[in-house]
Amino acid sequence: MQEGERQCNDSSGFGKITVVGTGPGGTNHLSPAALNAIKTSGVIIGYSTYLKHVNNILREDQEKLPFSMKDEIARCETAIAKAMEGKGVCLASGGDAGIYGMSGLLLEIMEKKSLVGKLPVEFIPGIPAFCAAACAVGAPIMNDFCVISLSNLLTPWEEIKKRLKLASEGDFVIILYNPKSKKRKDELTMAKELLLENIDKDRPAAIVKAASRPDEEVVITTLERIDAFDIISMNTTIIIGNKTTFVKDLFMITKRGYDNKYVL
Ligand code: SAH
Repeated sequence: MQEGERQCNDSSGFGKITVVGTGPGGTNHLSPAALNAIKTSGVIIGYSTYLKHVNNILREDQEKLPFSMKDEIARCETAIAKAMEGKGVCLASGGDAGIYGMSGLLLEIMEKKSLVGKLPVEFIPGIPAFCAAACAVGAPIMNDFCVISLSNLLTPWEEIKKRLKLASEGDFVIILYNPKSKKRKDELTMAKELLLENIDKDRPAAIVKAASRPDEEVVITTLERIDAFDIISMNTTIIIGNKTTFVKDLFMITKRGYDNKYVL
């Protein structure tokens, strides 16, 4: 092994933690690898609503540990404790676990406990919500993009504002996560006002609620109206096009640049 390379010691007697990205919600959008990890772990830890969704694929003898929304630290600590007892643990996390999910927090806590490299851990990718939201309206991403979460629970609003400003100056396709919650009602309008300083009010935008789930809803609108719809909640992703983005029928399309080089 060279410096900077890593190897896990699997012969420790510890169980393995498998961090599983469970995708945007629709059961068809769970990968076979994720499904296998969920089915084969002795212990399954996740957000209570999600565990209810996958109840039909869980076995009686699996230990199910549902947690409430804000208990992420407790979820990781429980996963670590169970794995140290020798149990195989599945830590389920929506979308991809490495995108605003449980992967980083688990590794941060393991690092504080000097367990990185000692406790076996594996990460299974999941379909991120923004991919499912993009598919609901065709091809709105197609070029360089930024995902910005409007939640200021863990990131100061000043930093979020700076990222919005720079993304709008850079002509990125801009994806907004966590646009609104019961407590945070004004951030989306404040974000819109900021984006309007650099982006035309008629720029196409898509609002996708519950992408891939039975209650999916889609609105294609313009930047000026991204805060005008009731479907906007914590289950909604907003995609704002770049300067090449156009709308045709029910599709939002961002150009990759082919028509600058070829005759289409
Ligand atoms: N790890 C997730 C993101 C978690 S942050 C991922 O890889 O995508 C939570 C935010 O994701 C929500 O506030 C919402 O903006 C978005 N989101 C999650 N599921 C969604 C869905 N099915 N449809 C639309 N947006 C969703």
